Amino acid sequence: MINDSINGKINIFGMTIDELRNVISDLGESRFRAVQLSEWLYKRGLQFFPDMNNMPKSFIEKLDKKYTIQRGEKVVQFTSGDKKTSKFLIKFHDNVAVETVLMRQSYGNSICISSQAGCNMGCAFCASTINGMERNLTASEMLAQTLYINDLLKKEGEKVDTIVIMGSGEPLINYDNVVRFMRLIHEDYCMKLGYRNITLSTCGIIPGIERLTHEGIPVNLSISLHASNQEVRKQIMPIANKYDINDVVKAAEIYASATGRRITYEYILIENVNDTVDHAKELVNLLRGQLASVNLIPLNPVTERDWKQPSAGRVEFFKNYLLKNNVTATVRKEMGQDIKAACGQLRNRNLTSL
Ligand code: SAH
Repeated sequence: MINDSINGKINIFGMTIDELRNVISDLGESRFRAVQLSEWLYKRGLQFFPDMNNMPKSFIEKLDKKYTIQRGEKVVQFTSGDKKTSKFLIKFHDNVAVETVLMRQSYGNSICISSQAGCNMGCAFCASTINGMERNLTASEMLAQTLYINDLLKKEGEKVDTIVIMGSGEPLINYDNVVRFMRLIHEDYCMKLGYRNITLSTCGIIPGIERLTHEGIPVNLSISLHASNQEVRKQIMPIANKYDINDVVKAAEIYASATGRRITYEYILIENVNDTVDHAKELVNLLRGQLASVNLIPLNPVTERDWKQPSAGRVEFFKNYLLKNNVTATVRKEMGQDIKAACGQLRNRNLTSL
């Protein structure tokens, strides 16, 4: 059950249809109004109850007394020079703000949403973790990021086609809210988005992967691997001290066989850290024969760090080595670097410094 109460009122945005039905019957109205209410909330961009022109006034007054609609608020938007990438800063009721990215790809509109404000995983290459984690986001706040952009696209006759939960935060640390969000956007009365159009990216929280395996929602799973062995992984990702690389891959393999969904392993290429031929060999040994593909991401610059992106030739070599050895691999097309919207560049923004 949703329980975010704001200024003494309960947030209705993000409730499931059953929860809306309960709200409505508590207020003494007929339950069929739940469908109308869900349409207003999730399809018609409702911000204020009095705008519902097909509801009795008395019902609207009762709703207004006890409930609030918290959709977050866009503070600022940046758009890249090529117009393909936009980054939005979305602020919530307590002034916490997160970054959300829209990428207009040839295959459709993809958004990258945040699951936490900041992150406490401490990955050495990533900007999102530099100021630690402020708090988990609720399902409602993930929905707010999504519908804000979807409503914007609707004005152009378009919509959000795919969602990646790859913004700031570790989604499997905020498991219940993230799963609730994924179920909600899948519902017909919400966005009706297929589970195969949703990707959850994790640094490899094994208990979370195991839980997700049995959740019955076959979303795509991305694992941020970034190393071919435990030693290198420990150097750049503190979570490796908790979970062994081989166990992470095993958990992902079980996920793939339970859901039939191919795993994507994300692998940031960092010059002289994880990009040599020996690393490529190890990676092949780790992943060969699995229902998996490797997404190579040339490191994006983060000012606080001094690691380098390998040369284009070295990236090509690494990719071709994997391909020659029957491990599917692609190089991620980077978007939005000029507005610091690329992977690992999202930050916990201090609103006063804008
Ligand atoms: N916590 C989740 C989701 C957020 S990270 C996870 O770890 O997967 C989203 C993706 O961006 C991850 O693959 C992450 O490792 C990658 N990333 C982080 N910093 C980066 C950087 N500087 N350059 C390129 N990719 C980066």
